[in-house]
Amino acid sequence: MLLQDKDRIFTNLYGWEDAGLKAAQKRGDWNGTKKLIGKGRDWIIEEMKKSGMRGRGGAGFPTGLKWSFMPKDSGKPHYIVINADESEPGTCKDRDILRFEPHKLVEGALLSGFAIGANAGYIYIRGEFYNEAVAVQKAIDEAYDAGMIGKNACKSGWDFELYLHRGAGAYICGEESALLNSLEGKKGMPRNKPPFPAMAGLYSCPTTVNNVETIAAVPEILRRGGSWFASFGNENNHGTKLFCISGHVNRPCNVEDALSIPLKELIEKHAGGVRGGWDNLLAVIPGGSSTPLLPKSVCETVLMDFDSLRAAQSSLGTAGVIVMDKSTDIVQAICRLSQFYWHESCGQCTPCREGTGWVWRMMQQMVRGEAAIEDIDMLLDVCGQMEGNSICAHADAAAWPVQGLMRHFRDEVERRILEYRKKHAA
Ligand code: SF4
Repeated sequence: MLLQDKDRIFTNLYGWEDAGLKAAQKRGDWNGTKKLIGKGRDWIIEEMKKSGMRGRGGAGFPTGLKWSFMPKDSGKPHYIVINADESEPGTCKDRDILRFEPHKLVEGALLSGFAIGANAGYIYIRGEFYNEAVAVQKAIDEAYDAGMIGKNACKSGWDFELYLHRGAGAYICGEESALLNSLEGKKGMPRNKPPFPAMAGLYSCPTTVNNVETIAAVPEILRRGGSWFASFGNENNHGTKLFCISGHVNRPCNVEDALSIPLKELIEKHAGGVRGGWDNLLAVIPGGSSTPLLPKSVCETVLMDFDSLRAAQSSLGTAGVIVMDKSTDIVQAICRLSQFYWHESCGQCTPCREGTGWVWRMMQQMVRGEAAIEDIDMLLDVCGQMEGNSICAHADAAAWPVQGLMRHFRDEVERRILEYRKKHAA
């Protein structure tokens, strides 16, 4: 069953209406914000726990729980930092919130900032999002002028300053600790953890970093109640979610639907189906470029949520659904992703710095078939050594697409190797 319009949080996702304050208020934004703050910090955190919201940036960590990790009386300033560095190939959901629904984000920043005791918030936006940065800054300015944020925000008695910071376009700054370093004016390189941001984040102060979609959904969840949000999706995978459907479909789109929607239904009902029909499907990358691909046989039945995709040895990630039909050179497609992860490695850790380049070079050989059959296992062995052995998950993200390819399309890689050998036999 498709989500009904009345249950959609992002009612201006396609920019059909104005993004400004007045139009946003007509859509329900900033409605009763003071009252929500008046219910207190603990109520907000409990309501978020009740909603079952899991972070929409990729990791899927429960939002209410994350907020509850923030110390109560640290004696230091607290910060809410919003990760708007959306750079995962196949993903463009935050972009549409930033340009068409910026007031949801600004209101969400205030409410979540209040919940974690932060009087200041930062939105870190990727450098390439120029128009989006203009739209967000306009919303921030409007909110200041209307007294929604700043001193005594919404006349709630809570002071809240909100700043927009533009990044310089490095993918790795989407990793939360690299983002914090970049925000502090340092090189955008991930930090060793622990300490985690809740203990020592921005300027070594308690900090919560959340994704744009997560924060922008907070006001509506609080207005309608956590149990309303929890009524969508399956156990442990609650709420509505933005999906980005791209690639070989008839109508690529961003769409909000309930978590746990079957992948096939998502593609057929919202994106007009696979180009050439469902039987022309080869594979789908379900959650942004780092998530292992799924062959058609799995796509028939898999549900789009955290746990179902994990059980299928992939991940919901950012819900960037990349559809590939039978015209796709699947080995070349994954090789291109290997190049991307090589290019975006920050270079701090040996398994990532050396591994991503080695994997990319090896994948180029696999594309040509210019390799030995045993090289496939060696490639998988190196991917296994990269996984979990570095400061951040970038090395893992580089390994997963290759592992997915070999899990489901090893035959095709072997076929190329044998064909190359035959062709070049003396
Ligand atoms: Fe940098 Fe890669 Fe290490 Fe992450 S895993 S810190 S991107 S070298």
